[in-house]
Amino acid sequence: MPEQDQRRYVVHTYGCQMNEHDSERIAGLLEADGLVRAESEADADVVVLNTCCIRENADNKLYGNLGHMKTWKAKKNGRQIVVSGCLAQKDQDLVAQKAGHVDVVMGTHNVHRAAELLEAAKSSNVPITEILEVAVVDDHAMFPSALPARREKSYNSWVTIQIGCDNSCAFCIVPAVRGEEMSRPYADIVAEVEQLAIDGVSEVTLLGQNVNSYGRDLQLAARQAGDDSVKLRPLFADLLRDVGAVDGIQRVRYTSPHPKDMRPETFAAMADTSAVCEHLHYPLQSGSDRVLALMHRGYTAERYLERLVEARQTVPDLAVSTDIIVGFPGETEDDFERTLEVAAAAEYDYAYTFIFSSRPGTEAAEMEADFVDPAVASERFERLRVVVERSAIAKHEARVGRIEEVLVEGPSKKDPGVTSGRTRQNKLAHFVTPRPLRAGSYATVEVTRAAPHHLIGNFVDYVADARHTVRIPVASL
Ligand code: SF4
Repeated sequence: MPEQDQRRYVVHTYGCQMNEHDSERIAGLLEADGLVRAESEADADVVVLNTCCIRENADNKLYGNLGHMKTWKAKKNGRQIVVSGCLAQKDQDLVAQKAGHVDVVMGTHNVHRAAELLEAAKSSNVPITEILEVAVVDDHAMFPSALPARREKSYNSWVTIQIGCDNSCAFCIVPAVRGEEMSRPYADIVAEVEQLAIDGVSEVTLLGQNVNSYGRDLQLAARQAGDDSVKLRPLFADLLRDVGAVDGIQRVRYTSPHPKDMRPETFAAMADTSAVCEHLHYPLQSGSDRVLALMHRGYTAERYLERLVEARQTVPDLAVSTDIIVGFPGETEDDFERTLEVAAAAEYDYAYTFIFSSRPGTEAAEMEADFVDPAVASERFERLRVVVERSAIAKHEARVGRIEEVLVEGPSKKDPGVTSGRTRQNKLAHFVTPRPLRAGSYATVEVTRAAPHHLIGNFVDYVADARHTVRIPVASL
């Protein structure tokens, strides 16, 4: 069919990397079904809203958007609206009740059905809501990585290794909307990375809610099935080594680990595997043991810091980032000062800091009597920002004068004359090149200046193979 006659789609993504990855799979399925990507909603026949319920007021924003989309839909025959993701999983039939013009509502375990549901709603002209409560035991359904994808970037890719979460952090809706923790078969992950490398991907990010517990369920299931030879041991470390050994893969990242499950074997695998980047996202959430217990995080501040020291001793030049929630219900000034102390001691390279906001359906949402005054929470947030920026700028200044390997992302968003990319420590670097560099290529850059959120430098060299640092002189570019 000529491209101008094909139906067009756009996917709007809200929320975390897991959702971004699901959106790539939804786009891949729609393209496999003959649709092509539209530049904008005005040009589209299908709009997918892949929702998240982590953000504050996500419900109000979704239903507000859907109100506007009623007009969009009425402007052209055959237009369809899909609502997918965590908010669809949480609200279920409510989406169709509040917005009867939505054609398909599908949950987090239904990504693999995107194209079929869209087609069924079109041919029957009846809206469909399909929400599976648990992932079905089928690799395509459980692990969207096994589905075709339309990757946003040709040179890097998410790789799902696990879905769901068995923890019960009081502030988090993920276990309710993503279900129990399930690990993807080991060989399937490695095979996918091998295929990605053949397709030209050089950087992969292994994705799960609690990657350090990867494989525990597989090992337990094998033992329950009578295989006594299976030992319970940290499979994630093996996975890092095997994925890092795939020919063509130059960078391996992962997110997110849980501090209570961090293992020395993981640090050793990071140190031994040259492709694994020297970056650890290590979510603190609070520095107060009392608040950590209220959150059900399963570690103390002391244990957290001990493991951080171990990580830095094992992995040279390790950059560390974190997530911290300010104003969790019941947080006192004393609790908050513990957070400031731990943040200062941890010397983060960067931190995602959030003021607590109540998410319906979580345990913390029920702690209303202990909610912290918003003015107090804002003032604490500002004090924390000063502490984390102090260490961020110190870490960046320490890199001035060094030569960093950068994976090129393309022209800077603010200044197209400047090239941007990421260092192995996941720091954004801006630099001027003698000629435009292809997104996905590697370069070396001398860092000349530091800012709290990025580095500035001069282009040094083009790197043909970042793992083996074969350098091509600038003159031959
Ligand atoms: S570990 Fe905690 S914060 Fe992370 S997904 Fe599970 S419940 Fe949520």
